[in-house]
Amino acid sequence: MLDKCIWPSSSQGFSAASMVKALRRAAITVTAVNKGVQFKFCWKSEAPPRVKFFIWTALHNSISSLAFLASRGIITNGNVLCDICGEEETMNHIFIHCLFVRKIWYMVFQNLGVAWVLPYTFEEFLTQWSAIIPLGVCTKLWTTTWMIFIWEIWKCRNRRVFDNKESSVHDIVFRSFTTAVFYFKCNHPSFAYSGLDLYRNPDSILFS
Ligand SMILES: [Zn+2]
Repeated sequence: MLDKCIWPSSSQGFSAASMVKALRRAAITVTAVNKGVQFKFCWKSEAPPRVKFFIWTALHNSISSLAFLASRGIITNGNVLCDICGEEETMNHIFIHCLFVRKIWYMVFQNLGVAWVLPYTFEEFLTQWSAIIPLGVCTKLWTTTWMIFIWEIWKCRNRRVFDNKESSVHDIVFRSFTTAVFYFKCNHPSFAYSGLDLYRNPDSILFS
């Protein structure tokens, strides 16, 4: 029997159009699986349910950024600029690329002693964070910490936009580390460190 080439994506044989369709199908499947794995990872954290739900919403690109609201026709396209740096306020901008938020992450990663490359998307960021996860009891604290940071950054953004109240980089970093330890200790009361300890020495606690 002779071997022959077949193209399983179309009964009509190979075509550029069927190739494009096959690639799109594969991309959708991979993205969906990746999001499922990522959310499972977050679901096992010690973050409170409202934070878990918020992260789930973010992983589905449904956070009410100004760009998102404009895409739904709720505000006009002329009102989508970040009031800090004047860039379009997308979800990725709020949590990763805004000048103010970059200072927060820079401080966090500097204190952790971890070299960091600015991720492009929220999903990539979670993948990066998951990739440097410490082993042992701190695994859940690590996940919880990231989720609480995202939540605190969102609350900070809302205070600025709706109440005209500013928070400093130090405020957000301190509040996020201490809140993460608070929720973590609810299920791990024997954890020996306080929120202040984690704020002061995150690298030696998480990676010891
Ligand atoms: Zn900005």
